[in-house]
Amino acid sequence: MTEQLIIALDQGTTSSRAVLFNHDADIVDVSQQEFTQHFPKPGWVEHDANEIWNSQFMVLQKLAANNQLRPTDIAAIGITNQRETTIVWNKKTGKPVYNAIVWQDRRTAAKCDELSAAGWNDKIQHKTGLVIDAYFSASKVQWILDNVDGARDQAEAGNLLFGTVDTWIIWNLTEGQVHATDASNAARTMLLNINTGEWDQELVELFNIPTSMLPDVRDSSASFGSVSFQGVDVPIAGVAGDQQAALFGQTCFEKGMAKNTYGTGCFMLMNTGGQRIDSESGLLSTIAWSINGEITYALEGSVFIAGAAVQWLRDELKFIESASESEALALEANPESDVVVVPAFTGLGAPYWDMYARGAIFGLTRDSGRAEIAKATLQSLAYQIFDVLTAMEKDSGIELKQLNVDGGAIANDFLAQFQADVLQKPVTRPQVLESTALGAAYLAGLKVGYWNMNDLSKVREIEREFKPKLAPQKITALLKQWHKAVARSKQWIDADE
Ligand code: ADP
Repeated sequence: MTEQLIIALDQGTTSSRAVLFNHDADIVDVSQQEFTQHFPKPGWVEHDANEIWNSQFMVLQKLAANNQLRPTDIAAIGITNQRETTIVWNKKTGKPVYNAIVWQDRRTAAKCDELSAAGWNDKIQHKTGLVIDAYFSASKVQWILDNVDGARDQAEAGNLLFGTVDTWIIWNLTEGQVHATDASNAARTMLLNINTGEWDQELVELFNIPTSMLPDVRDSSASFGSVSFQGVDVPIAGVAGDQQAALFGQTCFEKGMAKNTYGTGCFMLMNTGGQRIDSESGLLSTIAWSINGEITYALEGSVFIAGAAVQWLRDELKFIESASESEALALEANPESDVVVVPAFTGLGAPYWDMYARGAIFGLTRDSGRAEIAKATLQSLAYQIFDVLTAMEKDSGIELKQLNVDGGAIANDFLAQFQADVLQKPVTRPQVLESTALGAAYLAGLKVGYWNMNDLSKVREIEREFKPKLAPQKITALLKQWHKAVARSKQWIDADE
């Protein structure tokens, strides 16, 4: 092989992947392996940290073997990962002291409520950009130290290390040489002061975590040591959490550019430049990346139920056999139909914030059927994104010019077109939908001089741009109905149910 390539390791919540990119940022090959989800109690979600590592290493080896890669073929390795998931391990034996506690895990919710009640909200938001929640790593580390036999003593003796998944993968790839994370991952621990990019002593003490456990925080495009491959060192040169990596992979390099990922849920991030912006609508401020010591910030909003609503059409309502059939079914709907679906199956997140809301279908008439409900379900994804984006524009004072999209559900042309209509802005879908892996590859490639920022701004190929077509008056009327439906779904269950 003459041209050098970049490998991105994409350690996700359900699978580990290794993706090979060429200089044109095209995918040459992918290898993937799923791993086990553990649900030991209601609300608890764990992964076996060794299985995470083994599956990640295996897909890397498979990719190398399938493409007959020699060490000199690989310019660099980048890493992107499920964020917030927490691992604590013994630095002498390399053994995790407990399973990885996954971001979705709610076991520390009561502890987080106690901190809110004790008045920590403002301070934590000011320092970390986050709202106090069990989602982030800090309370998970504390839980491990307080609940695993002997863990606190070991930690205080300096024998234990903490890491998010990036750190765990780097430590294993470098055979224990490097204990480091990047600023975008560190920003999700609720222990990092995002204003300075350093661990915050007061928060580290609040969660009672010995500083000796904390990884070194580095730039996202930086040296993270190297992997010995056939006796030759291959540099690990880029690291970012999955959503931030996707923002980078979508080449949202300028302030005011945004991407949305339509997966099971949606994750929308807007680049806010060198300035962090505090949200009035419950959005998070986070570090997008740090390059050459300069931090770029982002506003982040998520929608809990997006593609999951399409799964509901498929698995519960049995309207379709595969998610992609939702498109043809929606196109059969009566254009006059006023059906609205609010998929508040688990409450409503930003910017509504109502945990007591529940899903509902409004506007049913005698002729409403599968097609009308499927169409309204797809439309609900676009409406939720409209509301998050409106909040972001308000918080930042920036008007978005276009939305860059990725994720499995945006393969649906009806959804993509309707999203452009509702936003009254173009929606651009790139050729390479693997924005997350691409972002990690870009960060690594930048560090080793494989690409420069100028190259990257040019390589994003658009597969299709969806331009708004519906009349603005029509959109105003539709949004009015949607907001009426949201209002009626709120506070459905009682707080003590
Ligand atoms: P995740 O990374 O969260 O697993 P993916 O990006 O793989 O999600 O996207 C899968 C989600 O997208 C599923 O919830 C599925 O229902 C939905 N989905 C996939 N294809 C389509 C489609 N053509 N139309 C609508 N929804 C789709």
